[in-house]
Amino acid sequence: MYAGQCRGHGYHSEHAAAKSGVAGDRVDELRKDPTRGHWVLIRPKAKPPRQTDCAYCPGAEHLTGPEIAAYRPEGSLANGPGWTVRVVPEPDAYFRIEWELVREGVGMFDMINPRGASELVVESPRHDDTLATMEPAGIEAVLWMYRDRLLDLKRDGQIRDILISRHHKKPGVANHHPYSRITAIPIVFDETRRELREAREYYQYKRRCLYCDILRQEISAEERVVRLTPAFAAVVPYAPRVPLETWILPRQHGCSFEEAVRAETGGDLARLLSQYFRALARGFGDPGYEMVLHTAPNLRSRILQGDWATIRDDYHWHIEIMPEPEHANRVGGIFVNETRPEVSAAALRKAWADQG
Ligand SMILES: [Zn+2]
Ligand SMILES: [Zn+2]
Repeated sequence: MYAGQCRGHGYHSEHAAAKSGVAGDRVDELRKDPTRGHWVLIRPKAKPPRQTDCAYCPGAEHLTGPEIAAYRPEGSLANGPGWTVRVVPEPDAYFRIEWELVREGVGMFDMINPRGASELVVESPRHDDTLATMEPAGIEAVLWMYRDRLLDLKRDGQIRDILISRHHKKPGVANHHPYSRITAIPIVFDETRRELREAREYYQYKRRCLYCDILRQEISAEERVVRLTPAFAAVVPYAPRVPLETWILPRQHGCSFEEAVRAETGGDLARLLSQYFRALARGFGDPGYEMVLHTAPNLRSRILQGDWATIRDDYHWHIEIMPEPEHANRVGGIFVNETRPEVSAAALRKAWADQG
């Protein structure tokens, strides 16, 4: 059962009778391509409703689905103004909690219906805020909300993986109220699975965490380190896909973000992100970017005995930021980056210093 129901918001129970994967007259399915091992969400396109006013501004709370969680002062009512961070269901969601989980063989193929959750974390009451304009305290509140939602969603054993991502200036998408997207799904995301496998294989071979080793090497070499704080390192990775790609790695080993965020680390990470996005905005003309939180999947959702047996030791949560991912150049799947990462790291360090 979905843990969020305990919080008393109505959006799940209202649809308790909904059939698996049926949205209106549409049937959504996750289908697996057995030749590549990746999943595809088959989802006939629905017409989005036309909306002129921002549904995420204070005063418009009635335009979103019932709120799932919010930080608000004592005495302020749910689904009204006064909040600082607010989580609402995504309209026309890809993944829905009210569906029953169905795993099916279709002849030789595998299909799962898209049971899960799609939520938006509205990061600020101010419509024009970005991570470069928000105060570190506001960013820290968003990080705490990520943690709350991860803990809550991971109580549901049918949810296997949760992606938290946010875009800034995505091409083809009009500027909108600042929010992050939480996508919780009944399978492990393809990219997470690849990353988990690489980390596990490295650990099996060396008995050390891959990311701890990367941190040690980058910190001693210094050339790709953009910034070091007591708890985090911001580095341009050894083989970045785009010129300004940056990873934020916690210096203390831990496989999951939600277990690692504490009073000191939350504040440290929020200040680091705030300064990073300010440096990016001022030094590089406020480019668009995608930020993704990489954290362990739901360890309660083991399917096979031995799944993730060493994950606590072999995986290391982190944040990846890809500025202008749409400019990534690829040849047959190989990324082509025309700027050496050592040059990018130096440029980021300079932009950081210039913000005073
Ligand atoms: Zn707004
Ligand atoms: Zn580690």
